Amino acid sequence: MVVLKSDNEIEKMYRVGQMTGLIMNYLTDQIKEGITTLEIDRMARWKSKEVGAVPAFLGYAGFPKAICVSVNDEIVHGIPSKKRIIKNGDMVSLDFGLIYDGYYSDTARTLIVGSADAAARKLNEVTKECLDRGINSANIDNRISDIGIAVENCATQNRFSVVREYVGHGIGKELHEDPQIPNYRSDSAGVRIVAGMVLAIEPMINEGESDLYVKRNRWTVATKDHKRSSHFEDTVAITEDGVKLLTRIN
Ligand code: MG
Repeated sequence: MVVLKSDNEIEKMYRVGQMTGLIMNYLTDQIKEGITTLEIDRMARWKSKEVGAVPAFLGYAGFPKAICVSVNDEIVHGIPSKKRIIKNGDMVSLDFGLIYDGYYSDTARTLIVGSADAAARKLNEVTKECLDRGINSANIDNRISDIGIAVENCATQNRFSVVREYVGHGIGKELHEDPQIPNYRSDSAGVRIVAGMVLAIEPMINEGESDLYVKRNRWTVATKDHKRSSHFEDTVAITEDGVKLLTRIN
């Protein structure tokens, strides 16, 4: 069941979204060669505390850390560790959300540390574009499937593949609400997009094939061919005046 949000609720979700976006900007500025992914987790916890919000992923379904940090061939759900040291040229995906005043936010960014090769830059640019094209398709009276069609077209035009096992989602008082939002052309058209929906749109795009596996820690998802993956996500609200970006800082 899709839970629609009032203007007042969307305002609250904008507030938590902006807090999350600002923390994301802070974290991306701090990530340099030599930092461990556990240090990124510590910063995410500290910044959440500073704004009086709770990290949304900490303890969610048993996830042990406050932020997901997925490096290179890791697609999503990377667990911060003191053993994982960021190296020059690494592609680092941060997936982070907060709970504040009863509402969730969810956002992801991928950055390249130090000097990046052209292929990494291209993968990141295309994934960002996939997200933007998905968001631009989230218009009232379109269907949820139009988002996935836009994302998949963008990825395949650039000869990249789309992760199919993990999808975007509605968000509100719960982290994961209906509807599910595939990043590919799905068999069903999905529900019609209406004002009051708040959606977390999150393409995960691979340099190589879409096949994946889950690592032995039972969380971290990685590409089977060990090629790199990029992930961008924003929480957006559908309003009568258009799509409002909640987690992006302008
Ligand atoms: Mg999400």
